[in-house]
Amino acid sequence: MYRQREPDAPAYYQRIANIMTEQLPDLKIYLAAPRGFCAGVVRAIDIVERALELHGKPVYVRHEIVHNKYVVEDLKQKGAIFVEELDEVPDGDRPVIFSAHGVPKSVPEAAKNRNLFYLDATCPLVSKVHMEASRHFQDGYEIVLIGHAGHPEVIGTMGQLPEGAISLVEDEEDVAKFEPRDHDKLAYITQTTLSVDDTKGIIEALEKKFPNIHGPHKEDICYATTNRQESVKSVAPHCDMVLVVGAPNSSNSQRLVEVAKTAGSKQSMLVQRAAEINWDAMAGVKMLGITAGASAPEVLVNEVVDAFRSRYNVTVETIKTKDENVEFKLPRQLRREGEPGAPVRSTTAAE
Ligand code: SF4
Repeated sequence: MYRQREPDAPAYYQRIANIMTEQLPDLKIYLAAPRGFCAGVVRAIDIVERALELHGKPVYVRHEIVHNKYVVEDLKQKGAIFVEELDEVPDGDRPVIFSAHGVPKSVPEAAKNRNLFYLDATCPLVSKVHMEASRHFQDGYEIVLIGHAGHPEVIGTMGQLPEGAISLVEDEEDVAKFEPRDHDKLAYITQTTLSVDDTKGIIEALEKKFPNIHGPHKEDICYATTNRQESVKSVAPHCDMVLVVGAPNSSNSQRLVEVAKTAGSKQSMLVQRAAEINWDAMAGVKMLGITAGASAPEVLVNEVVDAFRSRYNVTVETIKTKDENVEFKLPRQLRREGEPGAPVRSTTAAE
């Protein structure tokens, strides 16, 4: 009987590897840095995890804690229940956490009225914008918010003040149409995750039309948004395609796609994870940029790079434009005993 000769295993696999390597097209990947998680996202996820650790399952989270399905699914597995509105949270002692994007003032008020134990994961940089808005309002200013209608951060910021106190402008056309009550009592604030360049144009239009308008000392677009846009700008001019790992409802991820195109990449696309890569669109791509929005974990970037390794002979180069070392503290109620600023937890008779 004819028997096929067993190949010498290591040599056989090496040959297959060589053949494959020879046949795979070359692809240079430029990894933009910084990319991915920002300090506000890390803090928000830590808040949910620490609440689970200290208070057990379940904890409720109002809205996606950050705009990333992978993160949300992971937290669901650990015991978090996601709801869109507070009235979906049952009465009782279970913690309810507000997302990193911030909430209108009516939300914590409603939680207080129901004696719910709530934890606020609003990013401190979003809270800073809320405080600016309140300060302008107290000083008698009408406020213009530059942002995107319907985004949770915009809903949260507008909900800090009574209706009519803040007017939203999305672009320069809105500025042309906007008529304030008093040209000399006007201030502007911005969403934290906008395109730095587009916002500059809108601010210039506001300042041209209302020369006495007050603005923030330093712009409200956060450090993470600014740094990720800077890094993609340095990568994009070398690229046939820039992939942004992030969610369609993530504002800063969508902005990275736009910035990559404006900065010179022939194409740019958003992918949530490797399974979404449009391989037809990759035909002819020899230089690929990869970055990730502030709510996308690095594990998904690695997954995307690995997907390219299986189809291309890949070389990877990281292009770093800035070091980041920003960290935000957890709310006091969630610090472990012994941690600086931790609350004194009383022991009950049963303990
Ligand atoms: S993107 Fe900026 S504002 Fe939003 S959570 Fe991150 S650091 Fe905070």
